[in-house]
Amino acid sequence: MVNYRLVVIGLFALLLLVAVPCSSLAQRTPARAAKTSAIPSPQSVLGFNPGDDRTIADWTQITDYFGRLDKASDRVVVQTLGQSTLKRPLIVALISSRENILALEKYKDIQQQLADPRKVSSELQRDRLIATGKTVVAISCSIHSTEIVASQMSMQLAYTLATAHDAETREILQNTILLLIPSPNPDGIDIVANWYRKSLGTSYEGREPPELYHHYAGHDDNRDWFMLNLKETQQITRLFWHDWFPQIVYDVHQQRSNGSRFFIPPFYDPPNPNIDPLLLRQVGLVGHKVAADLQSAGFKGVLTNALYDTWWHGGFRTAPYFHNSIGILSGAASARLMSPATVTAEQLARSTTRGMRNATEALTNFPDPWQPGTWRPRNILDMEMIAARGILSMAAKYRTTYLHNFYELGRKNIEEQAKQDQPIAYLIPAGLSRDESVAKLVGSLIDQGVEVFRLDSELHLTYGPQMLQRTNSASEKLGTYRKIIASTTSLQEVPAGSYIVFLNQPQRSNVLALFEPQIYPNRLTGTGEAERPYDVAGWTLPLQMGVDAPAVLAIKETGTESKLTLLKNENEARSDLALPLRRSDESPIRNPIKQNVRIGIYKGSIGNMDEGWTRYVFDTFNVPYKSINDSAVKQGNLKSSYDVLIVPSQRTRDLVEGNAEGTVPAEVTAGISDSSVSNLKEFVNSGGTMICFDQSCELVIKQFNLPLRNVLEGVRSSDFYCPGSIVSLELNTKHPITSTLPTNIPGYFINSSAFATTDSNVQVIARYAKENLLRSGWLLGEDKLRGQIALAEVPLGKGKVILFAFRPQHRGQTWGTLPLLWNAISAAAK
Ligand SMILES: [Zn+2]
Repeated sequence: MVNYRLVVIGLFALLLLVAVPCSSLAQRTPARAAKTSAIPSPQSVLGFNPGDDRTIADWTQITDYFGRLDKASDRVVVQTLGQSTLKRPLIVALISSRENILALEKYKDIQQQLADPRKVSSELQRDRLIATGKTVVAISCSIHSTEIVASQMSMQLAYTLATAHDAETREILQNTILLLIPSPNPDGIDIVANWYRKSLGTSYEGREPPELYHHYAGHDDNRDWFMLNLKETQQITRLFWHDWFPQIVYDVHQQRSNGSRFFIPPFYDPPNPNIDPLLLRQVGLVGHKVAADLQSAGFKGVLTNALYDTWWHGGFRTAPYFHNSIGILSGAASARLMSPATVTAEQLARSTTRGMRNATEALTNFPDPWQPGTWRPRNILDMEMIAARGILSMAAKYRTTYLHNFYELGRKNIEEQAKQDQPIAYLIPAGLSRDESVAKLVGSLIDQGVEVFRLDSELHLTYGPQMLQRTNSASEKLGTYRKIIASTTSLQEVPAGSYIVFLNQPQRSNVLALFEPQIYPNRLTGTGEAERPYDVAGWTLPLQMGVDAPAVLAIKETGTESKLTLLKNENEARSDLALPLRRSDESPIRNPIKQNVRIGIYKGSIGNMDEGWTRYVFDTFNVPYKSINDSAVKQGNLKSSYDVLIVPSQRTRDLVEGNAEGTVPAEVTAGISDSSVSNLKEFVNSGGTMICFDQSCELVIKQFNLPLRNVLEGVRSSDFYCPGSIVSLELNTKHPITSTLPTNIPGYFINSSAFATTDSNVQVIARYAKENLLRSGWLLGEDKLRGQIALAEVPLGKGKVILFAFRPQHRGQTWGTLPLLWNAISAAAK
């Protein structure tokens, strides 16, 4: 018989034993007393095993568990990197042997030297660093919060490494240092945990929450790794590319339920030409090791060489390639959040993706299809644990190879000689009159470890804009392009205060990937349709930001080092440009809108990333606004509260109908409804200005009967395709919205719109350029886009509608087109 009183006393004692103050998460010095307390298992703290059906640990529980591990295990140190967007602690657990944990600063220093071969004075020193150093591996869980299982798995992985004594674990602890990030999006873990708990036992159990799981970015929180808009990206970027330089970064994701059970690299085509082939080979080797480990453990349905490519820059696992590191992504089939899913043979047979015709047919890259049945969070957790341990074991066994390759890639980048007519650097000339954009660009580069120098006195350079030149006829549907530098024939004097980014630095490939225009290869399916890239095709950062950054071919002066100063941070650039300094978390940017104008930003009932990024740019530029929800639209009389109404890009059906019935509680379904569209029209008729982005233009064009049509509506991808590219816009600079801008600027087009009209009441503010339309990325069938309307104003009643056919604020990256938005708002106040 159980003595309940003893059990209660025992539980109370356990609670006292393991109660840990929050401050235990604070950064610790390596010198620490030996730990003697028993190491708590996740089960003993949470009351369930991570991965059990219908259980979920929220962020407080996860950080509490890691705090206890930090206290109890001499193999674990937990550090707080900073605060998330909604002010939760962002943590990393450093896990290694006790001896390594006591010498973390020494190993960090070794990594910093290996990352920059200029700090290594001889081959002897290099060999000593490689012989002494450890492979640093980062594992990051659940950046996409609905892909929730990895965040739960992180506790199990940490516990196993903290307690096991088998030979493989000992080898891992001895030879590697693990940076384990339980989640780079703490806010999202709580959004999903709170929603999931509320949904248990209801008809919508296991559905995704009807809101963005990152305050601004939602799923795009993994599209920010070169722009560094988000606090989370900034802090982890600092941890990785200023402090620890992990040789391997493993980003743990999930995919949809009905396809393969587990994706692991090698990746699909096309590869990014700036990624060293050695890295691609190493990525493939690690992936195959994991695939073999899973097969050997009896898991079926593992897929390689499919869907995900290495073209795009900007993801958690892609940014490492441009820092000479190995980036691995896995995607386990999802359950229904933490509830089991049932997957049928029909669903598997219908599941298709690049590299896999369906999920039932055996292929060399998918040799053992999974049989239909029940799919549980536990299955996901087990596969992720095997993957994590497989990667760590590989990192331990081939420690010196990883360190050597990492060093050599950095050395190669520094010593690479520029070929004839190829850039040696990129220049950001002083006096561009885009000071905030210049400061942000320079700050983002420095924060990701790129070296940026200021010219302390004038220099004479040969330089010119790097552009795409079409090499076949513009009338052909598939454009072929080459990169050219339109260099000036003579040397030009470049004034002091300009910035220069040299290519001979360890991050050469990152500089090229960010500054060069991209040329995405023409990839068509067998039926002539465009084959969709995994993400965008072009992202050239200075173009997106509207900052001229010409390529430098030669410098006249020799021994220029004394005329250059290496910048330390964004504030040094802000100081040069006489901008207010960044002193805290608050954005120092001054509100660009001088008039008093009441702004509403529509926020529907379905989480919409474009809406989130819109709030992001308004918050960053300190432009005041209020979010307008569906019920406010339904109430009407919007003009009494707002002068300007902004509708971020969203499909008409999502705007009008909201969430599908039965997927969320009835009160969240919403949508503005057909009958309330008239309230939007009344707002404009009574003098309001409505500003629509991209997809949301369709609602007003069709419902308000505006005299415009989207010429790309219903066009097949065999005739026109532009999946995230930079194109040229020709501005009508007589219009107040464009009056502060040059006549030709880059704009971002992501499966966007293009308008035509025959009505003279439509004021055309910008058109897609008639010549040199593609600036970076991929554009198939450009004749469909050339000369069409990109931005228009249509008067209606006492007010007007301003239609952006593209997204002027895409992912918070397109600072070059933000002035159009600010000017449109300012013009509305007049
Ligand atoms: Zn994901």
